[in-house]
Amino acid sequence: MADADLKNPPKVVDGNTLVAMCLSRGGVDKMFGVVGIPVTSLANRAVALGVRFIAFHNEQSAGYAASAYGYLTRRPGVLLTVSGPGCVHGLAGLSNAAANGWPMVMISGSSDQSFTGRGDFQELDQIAAVKPFSKFSAKATDITEIPTSVFSVIDWAVAGRPGGTYLDIPSDVLHQTVDESQAQKLITEALNSRNKDFIENPRINYSEIQKAVELLRTAQRPLIVFGKGAAYARAENELTKLVESTGIPFLPTPMGKGLLPDTHELAATAARSLAIGKCDVALVVGARLNWLLHFGKAPKWSKDVKFILVDISKEEIELRKPFLGIVGDAKDVIGLLHKEIKDDPFCLGKTHPWVEAIRNKTKDNVAKMEVQLAKDVVPFNFMTPMRIIRDAILGVGGPAPILVSEGANTMDVGRAVLVQTEPRTRLDAGTWGTMGIGLGYCIAAAVASPDRLVVAVEGDSGFGFSAMEVETLVRYQLPVVVIVFNNGGVYGGDRRNPEEITGPYKDDPAPTSFVPGAAYHLLLEAFGGKGYLAATPDELKSALAESFSAKKPSVINVTIDPYAGAESGRMQHKN
Ligand code: ADP
Ligand code: MG
Repeated sequence: MADADLKNPPKVVDGNTLVAMCLSRGGVDKMFGVVGIPVTSLANRAVALGVRFIAFHNEQSAGYAASAYGYLTRRPGVLLTVSGPGCVHGLAGLSNAAANGWPMVMISGSSDQSFTGRGDFQELDQIAAVKPFSKFSAKATDITEIPTSVFSVIDWAVAGRPGGTYLDIPSDVLHQTVDESQAQKLITEALNSRNKDFIENPRINYSEIQKAVELLRTAQRPLIVFGKGAAYARAENELTKLVESTGIPFLPTPMGKGLLPDTHELAATAARSLAIGKCDVALVVGARLNWLLHFGKAPKWSKDVKFILVDISKEEIELRKPFLGIVGDAKDVIGLLHKEIKDDPFCLGKTHPWVEAIRNKTKDNVAKMEVQLAKDVVPFNFMTPMRIIRDAILGVGGPAPILVSEGANTMDVGRAVLVQTEPRTRLDAGTWGTMGIGLGYCIAAAVASPDRLVVAVEGDSGFGFSAMEVETLVRYQLPVVVIVFNNGGVYGGDRRNPEEITGPYKDDPAPTSFVPGAAYHLLLEAFGGKGYLAATPDELKSALAESFSAKKPSVINVTIDPYAGAESGRMQHKN
């Protein structure tokens, strides 16, 4: 080497730094995970490059956070894990992203390639392990492969129907080095070879738009159903225009709630059975006709209903075989429908018999529920505290808090009672009915929308899955209020028949029960957060008022009658 070179040696970049540089260039600004061998430096380098790293206690919660962050921001949420067991814990998040269709990238360190198959520390064939849960996976077997691998997993996560992807980086690759100039060259080349078309929305077939408009125009009892795919597409303005210009009633799925406010006069949520049972044309936007929508079949739906299905996934349309399928982005498609209608507008009007029938049914059902809600039942059932929480959330105004909800009865009652007024403000157990998402989703929501309060309403069982992450709330001082409906167990009290309580372990607690009166509010106090115990309306109101205005990590432990509600919530037939 010449003297001049020795005085000014080229800067070297190791694998850790190169991954961090690529994530940052790929638009990643947040990461969730648990550090350890071999990825601790990777997290530190990412932070140094301006990526916020939220450090969790368990990869499961961090993975749930990454999946929800992807949904809320439309950019992949990134989960970082250690090798072997860390990767396996992360599969919870990856599979949840796949089930919900949310973009997420899981990055795991893996063991040294030179020891493959010989029992290295935390060794696992991670590429094989993630296969059923990821759309795409890549392994960087050499430092020069890092940039292409990083950009590929990011692009694959958002392309078409979003989902989880996986990047494997062996520890030896994390420690390899290249000169800084070579690192920059590798990044530039990888960026240039990125295929933009791959992540573009599909082109829409305009003749299908015309057919859809004709079907809606001539329908007697049309309905617009939308789900979290429409929410992900940010189709709220287009949907609002479509609903309001045509006067067609709408029905959101649980996470579609808020694209139009629940209080909208054309909302058919409280008349759901009538709306889906009697509609003759249903425009379904970004929602799968899966168990949540009764597979689109009789008897819940009329056997003659004509579905117009709008979905980004061609495979989804192929699977459901609707009367008319439109492959495309929800916002694009609804925008075109609106454009096509504009030249020859139609509107059902308030006195249309279908609109009137839905309005009357809605009024009846809401009035019946309000009678139940108005009562102050103590010891608390599910309705009384839910009403108090509803009013407190509505009292916050805008921007509306993001609600996180999980549990059986708690989630069912909450879905009916709590009011969503803004898009993407409800995160719940989702397509998979995943219990354990609570704290991970809260943290993702708080990080994704720093201007919003986050309110979790969850059962004590749901809370328990991720409860240790209350320390994470305190550490990052996130504005999250966790309300635990504490009925002492999964579904609450022991509901076994006397014949079931037999055998040598009959004196053990029931499989459904936890320690009665558990002091969940004290968990948070162990870390310096604020806990409240609420067993009466006044106690709950004051805890909500104080915690909502403080916007600091808090847990409100709400004492619920262990025998209120039902086993399995509204899904008893499946248990
Ligand atoms: P929900 O649980 O609200 O019923 P699902 O998760 O079952 O919603 O369905 C969401 C659907 O939305 C999926 O089939 C997915 O392919 C689709 N989707 C995702 N992104 C878009 C988009 N940008 N435009 C249209 N559809 C989308
Ligand atoms: Mg419970």
